[in-house]
Amino acid sequence: MTPDKAIDKNPAIVSAQASIKEAIALMQDKQTSCVLAIEEEKLIGIFTLQDFLQLITSRQDWEKIAIAQVINRNLITLCIDNVTNSLSLLQVLQQYRLDYLPIVTQDGRLFGLVTLSTLLENIAQELQTYQEIEIELRTNEQALQINQDRLDSILSSLDDVVWSLDPHNFQLLFLNTAVEKVYGRKIAEFIENIDLWRKVIHPEDKERVEEAFNALYSTLRQDIEYRILLPNGDISWISVRARLITDASSTPLRIDGITIDITERKQIQERLRYDAFHDGLTKLANRNLLIDRLKQAIRRSHRHETNLFALLFLDLDRFKVINDSLGHVFGDRLLVSVAQRLEKCQRIGDTVARWGGDEFAILLEDIADTNDAIAVVSRIQTTLETPIIVDDREIFVTASIGIVIGDAQIYNHPEHVTDLLRDADIAMYRAKSRAQGQCEVFEPSMHAYALKRLQLENDLRRAIALIASSEEKKSEFSVFYQPIFSLTTQQIEGFEALIRWQHPEKGTISPIDFIAIAEETGLIVQLDRWVLKMACHQLSLWQKELPHLAPLTVSVNLSGKHFYQSGLVEFLDRVLKETNLDGNSLKLEITESVVIENTEAAAILLDLLRERNVQVCLDDFGTGYSSLSYLHSFPFQVLKIDRSFIKQLGTEEENDEIVRAIVNLGLILGMNVVAEGVETPEQVSQLKDLSCHSGQGYWFSKPMNSDAMTDFLLKNL
Ligand code: C2E
Ligand code: CA
Ligand code: CA
Repeated sequence: MTPDKAIDKNPAIVSAQASIKEAIALMQDKQTSCVLAIEEEKLIGIFTLQDFLQLITSRQDWEKIAIAQVINRNLITLCIDNVTNSLSLLQVLQQYRLDYLPIVTQDGRLFGLVTLSTLLENIAQELQTYQEIEIELRTNEQALQINQDRLDSILSSLDDVVWSLDPHNFQLLFLNTAVEKVYGRKIAEFIENIDLWRKVIHPEDKERVEEAFNALYSTLRQDIEYRILLPNGDISWISVRARLITDASSTPLRIDGITIDITERKQIQERLRYDAFHDGLTKLANRNLLIDRLKQAIRRSHRHETNLFALLFLDLDRFKVINDSLGHVFGDRLLVSVAQRLEKCQRIGDTVARWGGDEFAILLEDIADTNDAIAVVSRIQTTLETPIIVDDREIFVTASIGIVIGDAQIYNHPEHVTDLLRDADIAMYRAKSRAQGQCEVFEPSMHAYALKRLQLENDLRRAIALIASSEEKKSEFSVFYQPIFSLTTQQIEGFEALIRWQHPEKGTISPIDFIAIAEETGLIVQLDRWVLKMACHQLSLWQKELPHLAPLTVSVNLSGKHFYQSGLVEFLDRVLKETNLDGNSLKLEITESVVIENTEAAAILLDLLRERNVQVCLDDFGTGYSSLSYLHSFPFQVLKIDRSFIKQLGTEEENDEIVRAIVNLGLILGMNVVAEGVETPEQVSQLKDLSCHSGQGYWFSKPMNSDAMTDFLLKNL
């Protein structure tokens, strides 16, 4: 068809053509969309969208208007109600001599081009553009597909389950393959059985999950962790994050969620939890768990006084010796065996705990009375009677046990758990002080005693701090001297230095009452060194002031704790140098147990002392091991017979024989034998008859301070 010149000249058509061009120009110019309005097959105008909206809203029959929206230079969307087929469109074009009119589907794809065939050539170029656009659109579609594929592959490679449910009928909308790994079941099973995910919830967690799921409709999001049952019977932990997706009017559209397998994390948490409440070595409950259970027991007994409980505190006797001599690995194995035996003694509901080191604690719940607790204790002591075999070695173990009954009157608040533990500890110490393998039930008087002890310890620290700060004048300590006499010449040979403590409020405190505390707390080292220094200074002073005096020696007591303290020899050297004293003026008194504790170290130390001519006295002989082999193999120069033997002299034949044997032993080994605690002239003569060299005791003189001792020396010159 050739363009009809007549029509061409039709002013309406001219105007329509112009309008199209105008529209395109306007659109290009303004970079905006334009609308061609056609009414009853007549182009009524070209409008901007805004103007057009105004136009149609002002008209009641606006839906009859067929519009072509100029989207860009080539695309004109037709929103046609009354012009539904291409024929009428052709009429429009013919009538108005429009060059072309593209038809675009609602989703934006080019559907066709309405045109007059004669104009085809003119628009060939444009057509090509449409094809390009189509290609572009198709490429976009492909890109979209690629993205979709990529998304699918990501979803299927995830370890976490991604899912989507219809919120009304719970049909699955989406589920990725990870579900097979997490639930151990095929995707198909979940699709076939929409209730399967519910069925596999651990029975104990079902109610909780159901509640959370229901709450989703009000909270829109729920995070929950729960257990599921796997087909093989195993249990897995999962974490589920669910979101309710709604439209603008809050109508639920989907439930989307992610499910993560957290079994491993839970196992780690569980292990950490276990570790936090159990002892790594013995696997028994640890302090934390014990304290927790004790608090519960206190609460229960507070509520019902009939709920009586008891706490046993158990400390192995001489464990340190085993540990030090046979090594820590051995010690650890022994502790494990002891723990196993203790566990066998426990009743259902009891808690056996390792308190630390060689200390154990047992909480006995629901006991009738103290006898029940004592029965458990004797069971424990009986099981420990059989030697424990570690590395083919038989070890005999005993334990000192303190018992506290959880009296609801005394321990009536969970915070009293510390009192409870303290009292059990006090009772245990009391048992230990009696002998090995004993038990003791706590009584409030013990607490008073322990308090007194603690007070004494504090006072001791304070008093030692004073001497350490070298404020000698304020010192509460002083050194007394007790002379030692030769039984043959009746002459004074030397003195034993004995510490005295003048407490500002309590008066004189006997060394018997504070030396043990000083040893336990390690304070003894400072104390012994102070005495050593003072005694050496005093002796050197007497040597200077009383030059006519025969050479005298001073004996200083050394506690076992001190004996092995590093730096002892250096300290000795310094004091001797400072006081200008010869090594042979000094004697150190130690007990047998000190040597036996660590024979190798003792041998080295004793050699070092011998190099310095410092003599070593074996104190309190006869009360300890009295082992001949030690006496023989170590270089002791003096043997001090304990005063308990001297006291018995002349009472029974047998006692005299013991003293005789000890003296003879000393003589054979070439030692100087000193009798302690000589109180009567009869004892003096008897000892002389037995050829004992020296004597010390009230018969000769009580210990006295340095001034009194100076007078005493002057008198005895
Ligand atoms: P010890 O080493 O056996 O000291 C002798 C104790 O017997 C002294 O008691 C002394 O006063 C007492 N005594 C002396 N003659 C007689 C007597 O005829 N009859 C009686 N019944 N007792 C007599 P003291 O001074 O009370 O010391 C007690 C213990 O305290 C000492 O026993 C010693 O083991 C320890 N000790 C004293 N001073 C020190 C010290 O500076 N360091 C250390 N580590 N321990 C010390
Ligand atoms: Ca002594
Ligand atoms: Ca002694």
